[in-house]
Amino acid sequence: MRRWNGWGDDATAMELSEGARAMMATLLGPGRPGQDAQRAGMVAKIPPSRLSGQHALIQTDADTRLAMAFGESFADWIRKRFGALPPAPDGVAFPESTEQVRELLALAHANNWIVIPFAGGTSVSGHLDCPISERPILSINLSRMNRLLHLDKLSQLATFGAGTAGPQLEAQLRAQGYTLGHFPQSFEYSTVGGWVVTRSSGQQSLRYGRIEQLFAGGHMETPVGALTIPTLPAASAGPDMRELVMGSEGRFGILTEVTVRVSPLPEHESFHAIFLPNWDAAEAAVRTLIQRRLPLSMTRLSNGIETQTSLTLAGHARLIGWLERYLALRGCGEGKCLLMLGVTGEHRNARNALREARRTLSAHGAVYIGTAMGAKWASNRFKGPYLRNTLWDQGYSADTIETAVDWPNVKKLMLAMEQTARDVFAQYGERVHAFTHLSHLYPQGSSVYSQFVWATAPGGFAPNFERWQKLKAAVADTIAAHGGTVSHQHGVGRDHAAHLQDEKGPLGMATLAQLCRHFDPKKIMNPGKLLQDEGPWAT
Ligand SMILES: Cc1cc2nc3c(=O)[nH]c(=O)nc-3n(C[C@H](O)[C@H](O)[C@H](O)COP(=O)(O)OP(=O)(O)OC[C@H]3O[C@@H](n4cnc5c(N)ncnc54)[C@H](O)[C@@H]3O)c2cc1C
Repeated sequence: MRRWNGWGDDATAMELSEGARAMMATLLGPGRPGQDAQRAGMVAKIPPSRLSGQHALIQTDADTRLAMAFGESFADWIRKRFGALPPAPDGVAFPESTEQVRELLALAHANNWIVIPFAGGTSVSGHLDCPISERPILSINLSRMNRLLHLDKLSQLATFGAGTAGPQLEAQLRAQGYTLGHFPQSFEYSTVGGWVVTRSSGQQSLRYGRIEQLFAGGHMETPVGALTIPTLPAASAGPDMRELVMGSEGRFGILTEVTVRVSPLPEHESFHAIFLPNWDAAEAAVRTLIQRRLPLSMTRLSNGIETQTSLTLAGHARLIGWLERYLALRGCGEGKCLLMLGVTGEHRNARNALREARRTLSAHGAVYIGTAMGAKWASNRFKGPYLRNTLWDQGYSADTIETAVDWPNVKKLMLAMEQTARDVFAQYGERVHAFTHLSHLYPQGSSVYSQFVWATAPGGFAPNFERWQKLKAAVADTIAAHGGTVSHQHGVGRDHAAHLQDEKGPLGMATLAQLCRHFDPKKIMNPGKLLQDEGPWAT
């Protein structure tokens, strides 16, 4: 069963090795485990619903409403763990068809209720927060719209209910010999509709594309009518309506059906581990590689701190010790960087791509160590976030902040993000363990994905929330100062809305606000997300 106050299925756990515990204690001091709130206590605090008896599809029991009150951001996490209940929706509807979504939206529009579309609930950017409002709040949960509706094998197009989660989607496609190939780390729960409206990126976007390249068309219900986007191989017919839907974060309407471009299951897939001597060599190597446009499916480059952290987390201290001695003899000592490379496709193409990639990388001092670590990475590819549960139990907090920037600023921004975090925690006399990888590489630049671990503050919700807010704000300023995007893959939500203006400019922001008014004149759709046009919010 899905954990109510942590990541993932409660039958899955990731252990911290002795070495990893010692590393945390050395880097951050002893952890400070707190007393977790109980779910029953949270349910008991839910106020009476303002939507009781309004519609047969709307459930108003406190238990169901609590589950829709949170996403997976760090703020959501500590609210659940410390029992700091934010406003919850007044009711939750589970539509099973486009018609039911239309009916619910019409009802909400007529009665001026706020609507928050809820899909996998994996937002890490405050997309699902409920404002403090006089207006009743209706959560529309899309999880029952989870079926493959049509597969056009000739065009390699598949249409799904927008609430289809990753495993449901891949299972239905695989049964017919196809894959979408979209694997965000939240794959277990996030949905195809959620991916589209937050502009998601999967681990193998290098081969399959981001969701922008995979989204071919669909159907969206809005408070003022329906928008159906046909699938076309290409068009020069003015601005593309798909661009309106992608990144709309529930502001314009509810996407009910999504058509995606699928591929036949690949003949071959393997993941390979390669070490490079230091960051400068590694960055130059992957930039050259990516600009050669070889048909690879994944490149994931860890910086020196992340490489060392991953090796410690792997456990097997003797084996890793042996590997490190071997790598040092080959020129990859302290500061070495781990590159994970994926090759996917027809056997011959995959073999050729790997051979060419290794040739390019070896000119930068790369040491190839084979597929054992890659196979381990692949089998654990969705398990990393479970470590957050384990760390919390040990008294440590963790969060991630990500962006993307052109190549001249990649290293500068990476170092500045890590240093900003250290400076923030130094104000509290605390340390933070900051490390980074480049998960999505482009000929023009790269995503920069930093992770932060620190000892949970004593004193419950308020001091932990304050530290996290300072961290987010300071790192966001650093990103803006280096020309990075507000988000490469996690979207804007409420948490990043304050910085959107830096990227879009005044006219861009006015255009977005006008689009919201156009589709949603009464401002019922997920207000306060993407644009800072609603509040107040619970702290
Ligand atoms: C552990 C973890 C790892 C993650 N890894 C990645 C990653 O690798 N790549 C990545 O891109 N993201 C990642 N994310 C972020 C998150 O999974 C994505 O933003 C995802 O696309 C959200 O999808 P969801 O179905 O969970 O949507 P939700 O979280 O339920 O909703 C997100 C937003 O979309 C709106 N929405 C959802 N569905 C619809 C719809 N059908 N119509 C209209 N509005 C809708 C909601 O109102 C909300 O504003 C990760 C998150 C976690 C917790």
